[in-house]
Amino acid sequence: MNAPAQEMTSRRRPPALDVAVVGGGMVGAAAALALARAGFATALLEARAPAAWDAHAEVDLRVVGLAPSSVMLLDELGVWTSIRAARASPYTHMHVWDAESGAAIDFDAPSEGRDRLGYIVENSLVQWTLWQALDAAQGSASAAGAGRAGASVRRLCPAEVRGFEAREDRIQLELADGETLSASLLVAADGAGSPLRALAGIGTRGRDYAQRAVVAHVATERPHQDTAWQRFLPGGPLALLPLADGRSSIVWSLPEAEARRVLALDDQAFLDELGVASDFRLGRIVATTPRAAFPLRLQLAERYQADRFVLLGDAAHAVHPLAGQGVNLGLRDVAELRDTLLDARATGRDIGATHVLRRYARRRRSADTLDALGFDALARIYAWQSPALVAARGIGVRVLDRLAPLKRRLSEHAAGF
Ligand SMILES: Cc1cc2nc3c(=O)[nH]c(=O)nc-3n(C[C@H](O)[C@H](O)[C@H](O)COP(=O)(O)OP(=O)(O)OC[C@H]3O[C@@H](n4cnc5c(N)ncnc54)[C@H](O)[C@@H]3O)c2cc1C
Repeated sequence: MNAPAQEMTSRRRPPALDVAVVGGGMVGAAAALALARAGFATALLEARAPAAWDAHAEVDLRVVGLAPSSVMLLDELGVWTSIRAARASPYTHMHVWDAESGAAIDFDAPSEGRDRLGYIVENSLVQWTLWQALDAAQGSASAAGAGRAGASVRRLCPAEVRGFEAREDRIQLELADGETLSASLLVAADGAGSPLRALAGIGTRGRDYAQRAVVAHVATERPHQDTAWQRFLPGGPLALLPLADGRSSIVWSLPEAEARRVLALDDQAFLDELGVASDFRLGRIVATTPRAAFPLRLQLAERYQADRFVLLGDAAHAVHPLAGQGVNLGLRDVAELRDTLLDARATGRDIGATHVLRRYARRRRSADTLDALGFDALARIYAWQSPALVAARGIGVRVLDRLAPLKRRLSEHAAGF
């Protein structure tokens, strides 16, 4: 019996792409660049083009603390020098204290033999720099007139994936404009609400913190001293992260109703409340940008893998920002996926094969789960309000602060070493 024409063609020709990455946020863009630089024929599909980053514009309200492991990956990808030169704020010290018990813990880079603990950078700067690098890689590949082996990256935007179907030797993507693409592997980096995760039939577990993170950039009476400050309050943590221009970026996690109230305050009332909430650690808060808020939840995908399909970044895991690790976990996913695919290629295996993807999925899901549950435990412990439990928490924090080897291990873990 004759096979349908399409099937016959698919048996004869390899898929046009090695990897299709969907979602061009920080994690998806880093994944596309890492895989392209590793020599995989890659396409990045993104629904909405990011706005160009502008050095003269106000600092983006969304900032992240990049751990050393993330900086190393961005450096390997050739984008860190540009990000660092554009606007990145190193921090050398972290001071975390408990409003109820007064117990504090300090992390200090020089005493750990490091130059810094990390950098505070704007999400839009990281994403934009990665996109610029992808454009350059796309341009150089087409200028060289390369075929499948050399033309390692294509950026498709706006492009929205409407559906996909895994076949024996490829995965077929259907785009909203009716176009189709085929690849050996589909990587979903399409954020916490991941439409692709739902299409793959992968559920999630977790909990809604019933909190919002209120963010703004504020000027303070005293300098931030290149320190990330975090005060745990009964309603949630307040972080003040050092910005390159001397201001601090706040991430103030509050119960929903409190967050709505704080967002509605006039500027002076907001500055006054923030001063009290920060215990005036940097003196009075004297100026603020407009505020925004983001809902907080713990969400872990039940699995990271389906046929010729993997999840990474927030599509796989969303965590509380109290540890400042969300994108750092996502960038560790990127490094693991790249290494997994490189190993598969070196041993002549199909990069989309289930047994190949299993290594990535197992390693990252267990690492991400441990971290996510650890951050969740911290959120729960700091929510304790009974006097006995607050006292126990205070003793625990004070002991930990004096246990140098354990503290060092915690710090190295946060750094991604
Ligand atoms: C208040 C706050 C503070 C935080 N602070 C830190 C911190 O200090 N350190 C840290 O490491 N992390 C932090 N995080 C977490 C960090 O911001 C996220 O982990 C990170 O932004 C996730 O990036 P992503 O690329 O995985 O997803 P996203 O940034 O959500 O990107 C997903 C992309 O996919 C696209 N997309 C979606 N669907 C489709 C489709 N069907 N087709 C094509 N494209 C699609 C979207 O347009 C989007 O561009 C914080 C988060 C919050 C809320």
